[in-house]
Amino acid sequence: MTKDQLTKFLEYLLQDNVVYGPVQKGSVLEVEKIAQPADLVLNGCLTDHSWKKVFLPPCEKLFDYQGAKLNEVSDDYPQQVAFGLTTFDLKALNLFHHVYEKDPYYQRRKRNTLIIGQSVAPEQDAKTFKVFSEKLEEDILEHLEFDIFFEQRGDSFRVMTGSEDGQEVLDKFGFSNYEHIQFAGPIKETGLGERTLAIKDQLKNHHDQKIWDELGKKCIECGKCTIACPTCYCFRIDDEAVLTEGEGERTRCWDSCFYREFSEVAGDHVFLENTAQRIHFWYYHKFVRIPEQYGLPGCVGCGRCTRTCPVGIDINETLQKIVDSDPVGAL
Ligand code: SF4
Ligand code: SF4
Repeated sequence: MTKDQLTKFLEYLLQDNVVYGPVQKGSVLEVEKIAQPADLVLNGCLTDHSWKKVFLPPCEKLFDYQGAKLNEVSDDYPQQVAFGLTTFDLKALNLFHHVYEKDPYYQRRKRNTLIIGQSVAPEQDAKTFKVFSEKLEEDILEHLEFDIFFEQRGDSFRVMTGSEDGQEVLDKFGFSNYEHIQFAGPIKETGLGERTLAIKDQLKNHHDQKIWDELGKKCIECGKCTIACPTCYCFRIDDEAVLTEGEGERTRCWDSCFYREFSEVAGDHVFLENTAQRIHFWYYHKFVRIPEQYGLPGCVGCGRCTRTCPVGIDINETLQKIVDSDPVGAL
């Protein structure tokens, strides 16, 4: 597809959809609604924050009530297009799709979203973007769920489809020069990969408290890493009731395990008592619990947490310490 055709394709999509894509805002590349094709920055670079807000808004009302009348949020979710997710972002969505498999709000939004991926720019290297996993594994596309995928080839794009919806949209637009990629499940037959398994083994079976004590002294518990991360999916539920009026509403908002309240329960008990415990919990969740529970990686190596951390905590350095650490005692 040529750049001119791409512009026309975007105009076509904008007629009936809310379109989200990478938009340059000062020095930050953000996922935003686009108003016109020129707003979209399709250069293979990672956005500073992830795409999760398109599928899981930072705060969303689930229902409200007046007296005995319960009003569920309407089924009328807008048709939307998420245009420009990189392979890192699509990998992270694999996890979200599993975690929220039975969540009607997420599923409705997913059903109404056309997912369009793009290849990662070659200059998206470890130095600039702090990414640290494999970038474009040869057969990665068959393990990602998308509708359409654009691979940059000089001034034009190779176009692939991953679903019937994607094919239908392109056919209706009048573009037929695409190839279809059959989805073959979210992970490769070879499994999670040696490094992921080594980190999981070290974290699970050996506990080097020094790593967490050192990080605990640096981390200021701002939670920025969890907001930027495409695989952090925790939320809290807020109920607000106006007792005299008999009205109220329930909302769901993103939460962060770096906040003290996250692990606080009735009776003023806090399960994660200090920063060292919280940061250890975050790593353990990503690299042990998620792989065990879902059989998927809890981290896709996008490096956003490192880029966003105000005190310079680098996940790749921490993981190396974990791998290199001596087995000083089982948890
Ligand atoms: S933990 Fe960091 S590197 Fe891993 S997916 Fe989240 S933001 Fe990306
Ligand atoms: S961004 Fe850095 S300082 Fe903030 S919570 Fe995460 S690790 Fe701690």
